[in-house]
Amino acid sequence: MPAESTPDPLAHPDRQRAWLDVDLGALARNAAAVAARAGVPLLPMVKADGYGLGAPAVVRALEPLAPWGYGVASAAEAAALRAAGATRRVMVLTPVLPTELPRARAVSLTPALHRAGDGRAWAALGGGAWHLAIDTGMARAGARWDALDDALLSAVGAHPPEGAFTHFHSADTDDASRAEQEARFREAVSRLPARPPLLHAENSPGVERAGGASAWDLARPGVFLYGVSAGGVLGAEPVAHLRARVVDLRDLRDGETVSYGATWTARGARRIATVPAGYADGYRRALSGVGRALLHGRPVPVAGRVTMDMTMLDVTGVPCAVGDVATLLGRDGAAVLTAAEVAAAGGLSPYELLTGLRGRVPRLYDTA
Ligand SMILES: *Cc1c(COP(=O)(O)O)cnc(C)c1O
Repeated sequence: MPAESTPDPLAHPDRQRAWLDVDLGALARNAAAVAARAGVPLLPMVKADGYGLGAPAVVRALEPLAPWGYGVASAAEAAALRAAGATRRVMVLTPVLPTELPRARAVSLTPALHRAGDGRAWAALGGGAWHLAIDTGMARAGARWDALDDALLSAVGAHPPEGAFTHFHSADTDDASRAEQEARFREAVSRLPARPPLLHAENSPGVERAGGASAWDLARPGVFLYGVSAGGVLGAEPVAHLRARVVDLRDLRDGETVSYGATWTARGARRIATVPAGYADGYRRALSGVGRALLHGRPVPVAGRVTMDMTMLDVTGVPCAVGDVATLLGRDGAAVLTAAEVAAAGGLSPYELLTGLRGRVPRLYDTA
């Protein structure tokens, strides 16, 4: 394509204040890398609106990889995916209440169940496939691996689940606990009347830190797809890029302070740039005084408290004009601020940083 026919992406009306560039090409490459490593079909987790990046767009980007289905946390999220045109399996991994089963049926989702009564109720609704949730130590959801009672086993026998799964509590840090949970999972599965066709356990760090291909039938990656690696052999490409233009610029004298609470004091003459993104945009208040942004590829620290609508950056010594673009998360030229680094600066998890980017900032999708 000739260069003159390519519009300047920065001229886009949604790129005049603060926005989130979502690199769907990188997301698809991350998913392909996980799929190649796991060697089994994926059940990509697109809960919490695709970890804050927009589930419908995430699903569009993942479709060419032909995943087994998509994972969400509620019937409402499943309904939103169906409304956006998703036709593959949609599995809800958070327990649903019996009162929600009719809605789950209406949007043809695949629930995770673990109570005998729910299994029977689902079958009575003609609900079809369901997966048995087994708790092997996370103590969050599912039937205890060592306490599958007769009522549950008889419901499983009468209405056999298509799958059974468990969830690791420390896949990113502790390989011994993973091995123990896998042994418990095997033990529980061996007590079922028949082995369900689809067993699954791995989240992103579970795939990344596995010795090789998956031992199971499906893998359930989430955060890696969105650019967060647990430091295994795979590197995740950044996907979310939070940017904001400089809307104001001032010179401070020695001893003058910045933002609420006057927690930041200029040491010598400093130049302060204001960008129109604050905690209401998902740029978390925990980054006050400790976050860094990139301006023209150079790091610039957050000066003082992040406010609801604006954040101040110390741009002393970096060329800066009103209208310049600061990168609060993601790539700026050769420099990158990963979600893991930004989150760590604020004492946050990368998961909560990403899922917090859901307020006011428009999302712009790039498939390059
Ligand atoms: C969220 C979730 C995942 C994905 O976890 P990541 O750490 O984001 O890869 C997998 N399985 C279950 C049950 C989950 O709730």
